[in-house]
Amino acid sequence: MMKNLKWGLIGASRIGAEWIIPAIRSTPGNEIVAVQGGDALRVSDYARNHSIANAFTSVEELLAADLDAVYISNTNEKHAPCAIAALNAGKHVLGEKPMATSLDEAKAMVALAHEKGLTLAINHHLRGMNSHRKLRDLVESGALGELVAVRAMFGVLLPQANRGWRTESAVAGAGVFFDLTVHDADSLHFILGEKFKRVATFTSNNGVSAEGIEDGVAIVAQTASGLTVQITESFAVEHAKTSLELHGTTASVFAEGVLLQSPGGKLELSIQGERQEIKIEHENAYPRVIAAFATAAQGKGRPLVSGEDGLASLQFAIAARQAAETHQVVEI
Ligand code: NDP
Repeated sequence: MMKNLKWGLIGASRIGAEWIIPAIRSTPGNEIVAVQGGDALRVSDYARNHSIANAFTSVEELLAADLDAVYISNTNEKHAPCAIAALNAGKHVLGEKPMATSLDEAKAMVALAHEKGLTLAINHHLRGMNSHRKLRDLVESGALGELVAVRAMFGVLLPQANRGWRTESAVAGAGVFFDLTVHDADSLHFILGEKFKRVATFTSNNGVSAEGIEDGVAIVAQTASGLTVQITESFAVEHAKTSLELHGTTASVFAEGVLLQSPGGKLELSIQGERQEIKIEHENAYPRVIAAFATAAQGKGRPLVSGEDGLASLQFAIAARQAAETHQVVEI
């Protein structure tokens, strides 16, 4: 019999309210006992609105409470310091993406989790989508033959409510690389079963992000086996659905609307240009993130996305950014 996992939330965020609080509460054996937010009034409102018993303004106070695990979803630059403080306080950590805004911090998080024997996981929830699992199965089983080309398009019109720090604050890790590139890197690492080795990038600003911060990214990358992948990411695409295309020697697969928070989208297998829909039973991915994390924290499995996985996706995003800044191909 597993003991209940008591969670504290670091960051009184929208993702917490919309997805993670319900996911924790719908997973047997998990409960939320506290939340931390920087502003006293806002965090106490958040706690009341979400029926959380304790609200704190400092991370130290929250970590002193009777907790087993924390979920970190404040602005990007705070993820690593909060994770390091939580691991040092003996708590398991589920961190939001990007896991950190520097590789040194991310590596320190992974090393500390190992040293303390604690679970560190990153919320790249897309691995938990049945659409992504199907794509991975198609690659792994050889149903597509040998892959010859891959494209990903994570373009959205960023809702006004999601702008602010995400589009304006360089300090908070604003821009596409830390918001979308990390997700695409993790999805593609998962689906392709291998990691990227080199990357070239161009960026653009189409008026959604503040001056000097990208809101569009075009990436060409190559995996360890030499597969070439094109990735388009944008906060300024209003009239399209997100998509993934995997093209193999036996078949292609077109996946549309599969890169969002909500489960859904459509997969079509194409042979000689004839498309046939692959039926997917869509499921909310966030409870899967929580269930796998809780099992790992009890010493019985691995999280959906480990600290090492998060580090690999961050490494790719930082290399892609460096490629754009230097106009060079960057080896990873
Ligand atoms: P929010 O903007 O809702 O919250 C982030 C922080 O901003 C909060 O922790 C809070 O700081 C501060 N904040 C929020 N609203 C207000 C307000 N009205 N007034 C003052 N401060 C406010 O962020 P998101 O939920 O969009 O994203 C949080 C993290 O989660 C990000 O790192 C993002 O990358 C990640 N994310 C991940 C997703 C996924 O599917 N894996 C999806 C969406 C986001 P404080 O805590 O100090 O009060």
